[in-house]
Amino acid sequence: MTTMLDAVVVGAGPNGLTAAVELARRGLSVEVYEAADAIGGGARTEELTLPGFRHDPCSAVHPLAVRSPAFSRMPLGRYGLEWIHPELPMAHPFPDGTAAVLSRRVGESASSLGRRDAGTYRRLMAPFHGQWDTLAADFLRTQWDGLPRDLAGYARFGLLAAQPASMLVRRFHDEKARGLFAGLAAHGIAPLTGIGTGGMAMMFAIAAHECGWPVPRGGSQSIADALGSYLRALGGTIHTGFEVKHLDDLPPARAFVFDTSPTALARIAGLGNAYRRFRFGPSAFKVDYALSGPVPWRAEAARRAGTVHVGPTYGEIRDALGAAVDGRDPSVPFLITAQPSIVDPTRAPEGKHTFWVYGHVPNGWEGDATELIERQIERFAPGFRDLVLARAIAGPAVLAARNANYVGGDIATGSVAGLRLLIRPKLARVPYATAHPAVFLCSSATPPGPGVHGMSGHHAARAVWRRLTRGS
Ligand SMILES: Cc1cc2nc3c(=O)[nH]c(=O)nc-3n(C[C@H](O)[C@H](O)[C@H](O)COP(=O)(O)OP(=O)(O)OC[C@H]3O[C@@H](n4cnc5c(N)ncnc54)[C@H](O)[C@@H]3O)c2cc1C
Repeated sequence: MTTMLDAVVVGAGPNGLTAAVELARRGLSVEVYEAADAIGGGARTEELTLPGFRHDPCSAVHPLAVRSPAFSRMPLGRYGLEWIHPELPMAHPFPDGTAAVLSRRVGESASSLGRRDAGTYRRLMAPFHGQWDTLAADFLRTQWDGLPRDLAGYARFGLLAAQPASMLVRRFHDEKARGLFAGLAAHGIAPLTGIGTGGMAMMFAIAAHECGWPVPRGGSQSIADALGSYLRALGGTIHTGFEVKHLDDLPPARAFVFDTSPTALARIAGLGNAYRRFRFGPSAFKVDYALSGPVPWRAEAARRAGTVHVGPTYGEIRDALGAAVDGRDPSVPFLITAQPSIVDPTRAPEGKHTFWVYGHVPNGWEGDATELIERQIERFAPGFRDLVLARAIAGPAVLAARNANYVGGDIATGSVAGLRLLIRPKLARVPYATAHPAVFLCSSATPPGPGVHGMSGHHAARAVWRRLTRGS
């Protein structure tokens, strides 16, 4: 006779695994079903190019994971997760060989922006010094779900965070600070004039000062593996290579928690067009490089940074994002790059390096941006091409084939433009609940949205627990 499980989780990305862990920790029986042959979703590490070169096909750098309220309550270090901090979290080089930087020290970042903007930067960051844990708890959640912990701090950050990046940068005189903030806001892949894009930039800058932008030793897979091992230790079971196409594919359970896109959930659970207004955003165009040496950045600071933003000015970044959002071909891309092997020797054979790069292209775009990407890197690191031993290229179709959540290559699983970062997948008091009383959504299509932090999984697990224990 088949026994009734308490919860089945569909998808073993960071949010699915977090939801599974949190339910198992409450003593529930939990099984996870993952379509891919390995767990991790957007937190994977693979030899994509040559033997010994270990690449992160999706997430690489983890400012939102290292002190995530969800992960902080789990003993993930005991299960192999170790954070490594590069000397500088981020550098934003300019063609003249200088760079704006995000440092662990506010003062160092401020002085990299030049005399006229250093004071403004210091004043902008000062109120949030030492406030990360409260800030993260108050903002990495559904905003209307209960009172914030720190009302004054919430209001102070909220007033800044609601602003578009285009407004925030008006505080600065020079291109260094304006470019730096535009690059940070561009992690959201939405127009810089959109509400909340200033908040995205502020969150990443504060995270750099308060938590760093670390990489996990061994790659992003270590986060998923630590979550998976902890889940098994709590009695949970994980099945890989199992694509769920229909609810009937799964064993009977009191709750089904989907780490999928809302549209896939609706299809699988028979919820019809429940998410017909849900919109996907632009795509990433990802290239992973195996290099014979470190990237020869002209700017010295960029050689010490884990992450390097490539595309110097506010105007260039605005135009690159605009093209991706409006469905136009890329011309001069803005690139988010990471060089984990400068601090983690496990990523490449001795003396060699891995290099992680993505730019933005329209959803479902069918072209090849590799040449444009390499031309842009050469502007800031002349001689880069001579170091390339191999490259693995992933445009929208490849990203979507690797992970069904990235529809059309949208790595955020749903547009974050305008209010869509807050209201996702649709306006609801509990966005993790669905019209089916036993079916829940826990992916980054729910608040607080994309990134490896497990917070969507955390909040979804609370919603499941409330339903199972109180029926609410
Ligand atoms: C190129 C790229 C770069 C990124 N860079 C960063 C970064 O540096 N830092 C950062 O914090 N974030 C980054 N992200 C975003 C981050 O990876 C995601 O926001 C995060 O992984 C979302 O977690 P999730 O659990 O919601 O979904 P996912 O990680 O996407 O996991 C969903 C899982 O569900 C599985 N699944 C889907 N449908 C089914 C089905 N029907 N049956 C069974 N299984 C199913 C998928 O195979 C997948 O394993 C990046 C993403 C990409 C693609």
